[in-house]
Amino acid sequence: MDSKAQYDLIVIGSGPAGYVAAIRAAQLGMKTGCIEKSKTLGGTCLNIGCIPSKALLDSSEHYSFAKSKGAKHGLVFSDLRLDLGAMMKRKTEVVKQLTGGVAGLFRKNKIDFLNGTGKLLSAQNGLNRVEVKGDTGSQVYSAKNILIASGSIPIELPFLPFDGQSIVSSTEALEFDSVPNHLVVVGGGVIGLELGSVWARLGAKVTVIEFQPRIASVVDAQAGNELQKALIKQGLEFRLGTKCLGAKKSGGGLVVELEENATGTKSLLECDKILVATGRRAYTEGLGLDEAGVQKDQAGRVNIDDHFHTNVPGIYAVGDVVAGPMLAHKGEEEGIAAVEIMAGQAGHVNYLAIPNVIYTHPELASVGYTEEELKAKGAAYKSGSFPFLANGRAIAMGDTEGLVKILSDAKSDRVLGVHIVGARASEMIAELVAVMEFGGSAEDVARTCHAHPTLSEAVKEAALDVDKRKINL
Ligand code: FAD
Repeated sequence: MDSKAQYDLIVIGSGPAGYVAAIRAAQLGMKTGCIEKSKTLGGTCLNIGCIPSKALLDSSEHYSFAKSKGAKHGLVFSDLRLDLGAMMKRKTEVVKQLTGGVAGLFRKNKIDFLNGTGKLLSAQNGLNRVEVKGDTGSQVYSAKNILIASGSIPIELPFLPFDGQSIVSSTEALEFDSVPNHLVVVGGGVIGLELGSVWARLGAKVTVIEFQPRIASVVDAQAGNELQKALIKQGLEFRLGTKCLGAKKSGGGLVVELEENATGTKSLLECDKILVATGRRAYTEGLGLDEAGVQKDQAGRVNIDDHFHTNVPGIYAVGDVVAGPMLAHKGEEEGIAAVEIMAGQAGHVNYLAIPNVIYTHPELASVGYTEEELKAKGAAYKSGSFPFLANGRAIAMGDTEGLVKILSDAKSDRVLGVHIVGARASEMIAELVAVMEFGGSAEDVARTCHAHPTLSEAVKEAALDVDKRKINL
């Protein structure tokens, strides 16, 4: 085989799990290639996920501020109007800048971008092999190690099939060319709440249908309830404990059929768009897992051990395609750890210290255990909280919704979980992730000097409240 077709590592997929792993591998001296079927690098996250959604969340938040809060700050926008085309153009430019940035990083680190669809083949002469089908034909590459980072795709519900126009996934909901009159969001999880917020801020009526009795059911219940209260104030409507049974086209719009779980009562809801945001599933189609003998779990994810190794020697997997929270930064940590393990180092991911953020306004950011999880484990814990209503900076900003809640071990005081609902919670949570990584206590946070006036003083106060000695309330 021609030596150009031989690598130390081939990564399949250039999302955050794959491209970060490829860069780390190059740093460690591995000859690395990354197969990506899209023309642009960066995967779901940069192209149709984290980044475009945050661009729209920021733009729509500015609009909402100008419309409803500006006057209180003495800012009068007399001719305020929405230019959705310009907002979308900015989002596209942001995406282009960042995907182009990954291409630049590949060049800098001498990583080959192998553009095409990768399919695993059986190993030959002790080397793993993968075939890449691109625009100009196909080529077989071999590598000592292969890292699968093929990501995930939206789950399609059989009774709400995507049509790309009126019943859509998050991908199309990032691209609407006009503001829907009434957007029904099926699924009150992170993506549904974020994109529901975008379109509600831009003027759509938004109704969120959620099967569970509460939104964002994996987050701490108190934090979730705080967030829901804030979103209701912004005009979002919630139908909790409710099943969506299907939808029919009617006139120019849609009629959604709903059923309340508790009573079985059925009702109809008219709307013009439905965003199905009930989750994502591992994407393994066309990867050739069976041909290569790579096993999957019952949920269709690639099965790995504690070292990200599949059952086939030299084939590893990370990111959304394996078990665990579907988060960009989780995939990045796994990608780096997997490659370091391949290089003989001690790669490790601490799954208890992976932050989780909902980028609504207020934001909800959390790390570690929820209070419900601690109760279910029978753990002895202490709890402290502090509302932003009593935080000087939040009052100065006019952004006083939400609270910080810290849960720590009853005996050792070690921080077990933190849940923040508030403006910029996504930035504040980093401090607590570091504390948890270092095995720190609530007392450590309480004794740490926090700049005044900052929102993060509410974190310190919540830590003081774990020992019932908060100062400013
Ligand atoms: P992906 O990013 O999905 O990348 C996989 C790549 O593999 C894709 O580019 C795909 O084309 C390629 N590929 C697949 N199969 C093949 C093949 N056979 N050959 C070649 N290429 C292949 N997460 C966060 O942490 N924060 C957020 O704010 C956030 N917001 C989100 C908002 C939305 C609307 C969505 C949809 C997701 C969001 N996520 C967020 C989730 C995040 O995008 C994913 O967790 C992350 O992208 C997973 O990274 P990955 O590298 O595992 O896979």
